This record gives sequence, structure tokens and C-alpha cells, in this order.
Amino acid sequence: MRLIRVPVLVVVLLSFSNDCYCWGFFGHKKINACAVFLLPPPMILFYKQHAGFLTEHAVDPDKRRYLVAAEGPRHYIDLDHYGSFPYKKLPHKWDSAVARFSSDSLEKHGIVPWWIQRMHRRLTNAFKEKNAALILKLSAEIGHYIGDAHVPLHTSSNHNGQLTDQVGIHGFWESRIPELFAEKQYDFIIGKADYLRRPDQFIWERVLESAAAADTVLMQEKLLNNRFSVFRKYAYENRNGLLVRQYSEEYTTAYQQILNGMVERRMRQSVYAVACFWFTAWVDAGQPDLNGLSGQIFSAEDLREWEELNRLWNNDPRGDRTCAN
Ligand SMILES: [Zn+2]
Repeated sequence: MRLIRVPVLVVVLLSFSNDCYCWGFFGHKKINACAVFLLPPPMILFYKQHAGFLTEHAVDPDKRRYLVAAEGPRHYIDLDHYGSFPYKKLPHKWDSAVARFSSDSLEKHGIVPWWIQRMHRRLTNAFKEKNAALILKLSAEIGHYIGDAHVPLHTSSNHNGQLTDQVGIHGFWESRIPELFAEKQYDFIIGKADYLRRPDQFIWERVLESAAAADTVLMQEKLLNNRFSVFRKYAYENRNGLLVRQYSEEYTTAYQQILNGMVERRMRQSVYAVACFWFTAWVDAGQPDLNGLSGQIFSAEDLREWEELNRLWNNDPRGDRTCAN
């Protein structure tokens, strides 16, 4: 008797709330990789040499958030907790915000715009010290937080549509759409980085833009959902031997069209912002010569830290990698 071998596929009913990596790993890596090309000549050689590192480590903050409790709030801010747009009662200066709401309360609702400013100061100091390892680590990681700040649902307490029966929309917007369309359709030729005279104001403007777009992100998906049966909304895809339920390509295409280029626009703005922050930190540090730094390598301690991060990430027994926002 002839046996027909049938590939064994495990069906995974993908819960989108558990598959959310904030811009997705793809998006964060792409943003850091593209930002390198916006840098001026004195920086680009050093950053290009380490483009692989900047890409790979763009997702370290997301890996860390499941291991370090303090990490989570650095990725988002629930601005709707502070009233309605433009959230005047929330001071933009950290000290003033702490005086008004206490640091515990601020942490509870997310601190991404302030955390980016802290990372920016650290990066500036790393440039002053000409510490190549630290420059690269901080560049990779600030790129992550800046990317998160550009995602509308990172500024809303309804971050995964859990309050409006739209669970999964977080990963849909920031992972599924870019994974399907960024390489094929998006334009990442963006120009050059600019010096930010007020990095604090700049990032607050970006965060407020995200907040202004959050309602559209949610409302348009709700309307689209009404036009699609569940059979057309979802599709099964084979991913590394796993049969995974995903938003269908048809549904994803329709959503992208309704959003009128929003995801591409926010990705492009993320790339530009990341490059501007890298450039500004370098200028503020006195424009140190980076070419002599190329020979430096990471310490054994750095390597151990990443090894541990990956080990714990890969073995996370909870299997729950839900975005806190
Ligand atoms: Zn994140």
C-alpha cells in the first residue's frame, strides 16, 4: 500500500493580542535600518558599519519588557487618561507632571515621551565619552521608543481595541499591514536628518499626532468590519509549519486604503525622527569623530546580557507577549 505523506500542520488560532510586538519586530528593524541613510557624512560610515547591530537590537526593549517590570511603561502613554485632546492638564515637563500626578501614577499610564528624552540625554553623553558600544546600544534602543511613539494605539488606553470589541487591532495596524506592504509599496527615501532645536517639543508633537489619529484607527476598522463576513476578514497562513489565523490580505488591503497611507506615513516619520535624534545627540556632544571608534567591540558583559535576554525571551514560559499598550 502506498502511503501518502501529508505534512503535519499545527493549527494556531492566533490571538492577535498575544502577537503584538509594537510596530512588530519587522517594523522596528526596518525603521532603524532606514534611519541610517538619513545621516550626514561624518556619521554615516560608523552607523553603516554597524547597521546589522542597529537592526537586530531595535527590538531589545520589547524583549526586555516581559522580563523587567519597569520596562513596559516606556513604550506607551495613555493620553486619554488625561482628558481630551490636546490634554492640556498634563504638563509636558517631567518634573511638573510628577508634581501634579506623582511618578507612580505617570508610570502606570505610560511615559514614552519622557523616556525618549532621557535616552536622548544618555546618547548625547555616550557620544561625549566616545563610547562606541554605548552609542550603538542607545541608538538602537532610542529608535525603538521613537517608533512606538508614532503608533496611534500607543497613546490610547483602548490600545488593543479591548474596550470596543476590536481585539487584535493593535497588531493588525502595526505588524500585519507593514509586513504585507512595506517592502513592496512603501517609499523609504526620505531625505536627510535635521537638527532638533527642541527635541522635547518635537516628540510631544509626534505623540499628540498619534493620539489624534487613534480614533480614526479604531473607527475605520469598526466600519470595515461591518462590511466583511468573518470568513473574508480572516485567512489561514502557513508560517514555519504552523497554520496561523491572520487578517486576510483582502481585509488588510481594504483597511490600508481606508487609512489613506497612514501606516506608511507614520513609518516614514518614525525613520526621520530616529535619524534626527541620533544626529542631534551627536551635534550636542560636539560632533566627535566616529571613524576612530569603529574598532571597538562590545564587552563580555554586553554579550552576556544579550544572551540572557534572548534565552529568557525564547523560553518565556508565559507565552504571553501582549503589548502593554
Ligand atoms: Zn515597544
